[in-house]
Amino acid sequence: MPHSETIVAGGGIAGLMTAISLARRGHGVTLIDRWEPGHARASSSDYNRVIRAIHGRDHFYTRWARDARLRWLELEQETGAKLYYECGTLILATEGHCHWEDDTAATFDALGVPYHRYSADEIRAFFPQFDPRNVSYALYEPEAGMIMAHRALIAGVALLRSLGGKVRRGRVTTDASERPMLDGKPLEADLVVIATGPWMAEMFPRTVKPLTTVVGVNVLYTSTPDGSEAFDQTHMPCWIDHGEGSFGLPSVEGSGVKAAVVIPDQIDLDNDERLIRQKTLARTRRYIDKRLPGLTGQRVVDSKFNQIVMTPDTHFIIDFHPEHRNVLLAGGCSGHLFKHGPVFGDFVAGIGLGDFGTPDRFRLGPRRKLSPAESPSGR
Ligand SMILES: Cc1cc2nc3c(=O)[nH]c(=O)nc-3n(C[C@H](O)[C@H](O)[C@H](O)COP(=O)(O)OP(=O)(O)OC[C@H]3O[C@@H](n4cnc5c(N)ncnc54)[C@H](O)[C@@H]3O)c2cc1C
Repeated sequence: MPHSETIVAGGGIAGLMTAISLARRGHGVTLIDRWEPGHARASSSDYNRVIRAIHGRDHFYTRWARDARLRWLELEQETGAKLYYECGTLILATEGHCHWEDDTAATFDALGVPYHRYSADEIRAFFPQFDPRNVSYALYEPEAGMIMAHRALIAGVALLRSLGGKVRRGRVTTDASERPMLDGKPLEADLVVIATGPWMAEMFPRTVKPLTTVVGVNVLYTSTPDGSEAFDQTHMPCWIDHGEGSFGLPSVEGSGVKAAVVIPDQIDLDNDERLIRQKTLARTRRYIDKRLPGLTGQRVVDSKFNQIVMTPDTHFIIDFHPEHRNVLLAGGCSGHLFKHGPVFGDFVAGIGLGDFGTPDRFRLGPRRKLSPAESPSGR
């Protein structure tokens, strides 16, 4: 497409990386968000996010995650901001439920992704922070770790501005035909990308809402033990513990250890205060006592209450609106979009500019729920 004027609604990681990609290609870009990018209501908020190539049998996302790691390293160089800590990621395969991890190992073998396989006894020896009871084995991915999420958004906005992109505040709405509007007028541009994350469902009640479910997620940060570095990212990897419905990240830059037990929770996106729920506090503490006994008795030092939007098959949405052909919908995060951010943004820009079409997996529908073995996220 020759030079075009584009608008991106939504300044989370999906919209921001799309806007950066459009600006890099020399197109005019205006990024619009209701609040200041980096704000605490967005799915992209909080200190950090896990990046790992672990995606079961799904080669597509595995390759994306591998590319994304390189892109984050490049962004780190370009922005001068510390965006990535390569502390590795450990995935714990629960006894009797190892299909997803078995498939991941086969994918890694096929694609040449470095990893180690550890028995329960080896986990005790190499990762003494973890109690591997009911764990059959673990896969350790050394070229994985954490992205500093909030910092990445702030650095990304500065980068977008330096590339000539505009950033403005505003609430995009839709009319009865789901056409995007701003201040009562249709949004006019060659390409309008809607990347409003979990808010997309209410904006597109016919097109997106039937495909998505918004789920609240509570996260606790627990203090590291007095005088010990064992739970810092220099000594401990990120981890995924599907059997316990949990994942976490080691302490970084003084954050404390982040542990999330995913207990699906209702959330009112605009009206709920972002305070941790008491029932989650108790469940997460029980999980920490079981899996990370060295943290038993340590104090919660921070907490976040946030949300993800799930599609039935956990594939993202990147597709043109059926009635408004210049409107591209980009989201459906399903809990795993942040790490892919730079690659996702390039891909959305490529589809938006007509470089290539929408792969079936990203189409608006129909979608079906996948079995945990088939699913790219093991859910
Ligand atoms: C607790 C938790 C842990 C996670 N862990 C990981 C992880 O380890 N690794 C990983 O890869 N992913 C992880 N994810 C998922 C990841 O964070 C999300 O997939 C990603 O941040 C989604 O980004 P987004 O840009 O689609 O949405 P958002 O970040 O929510 O951005 C949407 C933006 O749109 C704006 N907006 C909304 N409505 C309007 C409107 N009408 N007009 C204008 N602007 C609007 C909002 O203000 C917001 O800024 C996690 C998510 C959570 C909640």
